[in-house]
Amino acid sequence: MTQDFTIAVFPGDGIGPEIMAPTLKVLEKLQSGTTDYSLTFREAHAGAAHYQKTGESLPEESMEIAKTSDAILLSAMGLPEVRYPDGTEIAPQIELRMAFDLYAGVRPVTVRDSKYCPIIRPNGETIDFVLIRESTEGLFHSMGSGEVTCNEARETLQITRKTSEKLFDFSFKLAAQRKKAGQSTGTVTCVDKANVFRAFAFFRSIFDETSEKFPDIDTNYAYVDAMALWMVQRPWAFDVLVTENMFGDILSDLGAGLMGGLGLAPSADIGDTHAVFQPCHGSAPDIAGQGIANPFAMILSAGMMLEWLGHLNGIQQMIDDAGALKDAVNSVLAEGSIVTRDLGGTANTDEAAAAVLKLLEK
Ligand code: NAD
Repeated sequence: MTQDFTIAVFPGDGIGPEIMAPTLKVLEKLQSGTTDYSLTFREAHAGAAHYQKTGESLPEESMEIAKTSDAILLSAMGLPEVRYPDGTEIAPQIELRMAFDLYAGVRPVTVRDSKYCPIIRPNGETIDFVLIRESTEGLFHSMGSGEVTCNEARETLQITRKTSEKLFDFSFKLAAQRKKAGQSTGTVTCVDKANVFRAFAFFRSIFDETSEKFPDIDTNYAYVDAMALWMVQRPWAFDVLVTENMFGDILSDLGAGLMGGLGLAPSADIGDTHAVFQPCHGSAPDIAGQGIANPFAMILSAGMMLEWLGHLNGIQQMIDDAGALKDAVNSVLAEGSIVTRDLGGTANTDEAAAAVLKLLEK
């Protein structure tokens, strides 16, 4: 029996629509080869350009589409020149995280035979870790309501027991799943600043409490500043890293850098009932409209969506298709004749996506 899934599709701003279009083609290709599942795309509008046009950044109809879909596929959003009167940018991707309580920001960092990793791996080590960025509170808690006077500005960091427990539970379960799959040794590292801030000592204490439920998984700790160093010096040493929102925001770009750039970095924001899949990068206004953006981060994010839906609904074909997609992107990168400009080549968005599609046809 074919299981149908509705997917809310937000094309977004800047390069957003340019990388979303080929990603949908890739998904169409995959679903055309199976009767186990089918995907129905429902387009939803939001973002800076939409705000400019209508005065609304995330309209009610779009929220409804997101709410009633099985998954949300979102391209990049925001344009630096379009701002609210308080000077902040339009960021519906963050509003969606808050609205649907998408507490687990999953940022996989993998480097196998890619030539785009900028650091030396002395013995050709594989880099394969997942950064889990808490995505609803932390220093983003006071987003839009920070206090600013002419002499002082305040933002409030919030860490709650409820969200931290769910976040750590998610992280330990992911480590267990990776260990079971033979992908890692099973270690979760809590990345914080517990040496200085009480809020992070609290964060760490909940990490410790949660770890007791997972005796087969090892635990480790790192201060965020040291982690920035170790992610450059020995990133192959890590398995699952879990951290606060702002720390995760910054470290995930470092993770993208390890893979060769933002154009290769996928992500997912996962909650108990909804999940958003989107590239780590932004709308890249500097290259928008030229058809030269790297579509791989968006395509790999769509792969994460298939994998998530597959696990949730027990559909092995979706998990296999996600694997095939990842393999196809890795093969294009390893083969090296189709290389986008962000990686030093001349291929455009459509050529890069076509190379992936061609491999999926085999
Ligand atoms: P950015 O990620 O858009 O771009 C940073 C650099 O990386 C640019 O030089 C850009 O050309 C390049 N780049 C990014 N994605 C690329 C791709 N797929 N292919 C090739 N090159 C790529 O970050 P920014 O310039 O700081 O932000 C631009 C806008 O995006 C801002 O309005 C910002 O608020 C927004 N933003 C949105 C998200 C999101 O939607 N999740 C994330 C970050 C930034």
